[in-house]
Amino acid sequence: MKAARIVEPNKPLEVIELPSPKPTGNEVIVKVKAAGVCHSDLHLWEGGYDLGDGNFLKVTDRGVKYPITPGHEIVGTVSEIGDSVKGVSVGDQVLVYPWLGCGECPACKVGNENLCDTPRSIGLFQDGGYAENVKVPHFKYLAKISGIDLDGAASLACSGLTAYTAVKKANMNSPEFLVIIGAGGLGLMGIQIAKAITKAKVICVDLDDNKLQTAKEMGADFVVNSNVIGSVATGSGNAAQKIISLSNNKGADSVIDFVNAPQTVKTGLAALRKRGNLVLVGLFGGSLELSLVTIPLKALTIQGAYTGNYNDMVELIDLAKKGIIKPVISQRYSLDQVNDALENLKQRKIIGRAVINP
Ligand code: NAD
Ligand code: ZN
Repeated sequence: MKAARIVEPNKPLEVIELPSPKPTGNEVIVKVKAAGVCHSDLHLWEGGYDLGDGNFLKVTDRGVKYPITPGHEIVGTVSEIGDSVKGVSVGDQVLVYPWLGCGECPACKVGNENLCDTPRSIGLFQDGGYAENVKVPHFKYLAKISGIDLDGAASLACSGLTAYTAVKKANMNSPEFLVIIGAGGLGLMGIQIAKAITKAKVICVDLDDNKLQTAKEMGADFVVNSNVIGSVATGSGNAAQKIISLSNNKGADSVIDFVNAPQTVKTGLAALRKRGNLVLVGLFGGSLELSLVTIPLKALTIQGAYTGNYNDMVELIDLAKKGIIKPVISQRYSLDQVNDALENLKQRKIIGRAVINP
């Protein structure tokens, strides 16, 4: 089978011929129909994450081994099953839950494998969906899908699921005004989910008018271009002040930062009202100096969100089936075009999600 692999960081991915995986026991082989191209694939390609102050967190220090086939948003058809597989048959259309855990740690024991102490995620720690076939270690990680667009369904496994977790966390203080920073693959899902499951007015911030136009189409009540207005760092007339004035001068109740870089977090913190809630999701990275007293004086909550659990993915499939959320898929690439797909994402040319159709 053909697979597109990261051989080493920052080198073009290589499309090579690999032996097709064979299933045993509980394993399932899925013939890939679509694999979403997530910004996290770019971080994997770049070799890690910016920790700020010139420091870098290498994915190899977190257990990633190159060469690796990326792709964690995978939809396809079951093509072969191991002899212990139950409830899944050859020919079924499935979405793969990629956030596999160890099954033993405290998070796994309560069903949050995405928060496992020793994760085994597909497309990160084991070969993923940028390939004609992918091996799923256990049939319990599959969810049957029907009646929804298959390319769009792929994004439910990461961009949709992560946005769902983040919106649930941001909704804990019943926000009247909810800010979403970053109108990319995750942010556009976040807007739709926020409009579906919260009562909040949504203010979306990005630095690209095309993305903000789509944000409005997805239901954002207000949009703010932080590139035009300026970030907090650039002083007066900044995005935080714009958010505060849009929220009737109260400030935002919750902010979800799908970028999570110094300038966006500064904006988020400055825009929050008392009792505000900041949910950090993006992995753009960097570091920040905080004025500590503001956090207790304003009783702020700052929390992280990482992907989501299997049950939430199933709930999300249901929301997609009902047409309540509609993944935005703007570009489709073949396996041979994988480097173009990643390069275009890096250059912010993709609206919503791109998918690879092997
Ligand atoms: P994307 O490239 O599709 O979207 C990023 C968006 O942010 C773009 O619209 C871009 O214009 C905007 N942006 C970039 N810099 C900005 C800035 N300074 N101010 C305002 N807007 C800015 O990316 P994505 O796939 O949506 O992923 C977003 C981030 O979330 C990535 O870092 C990704 O790795 C991370 N991620 C985190 C999780 C998690 O579980 N925590 C899961 C998936 C992805
Ligand atoms: Zn992802």
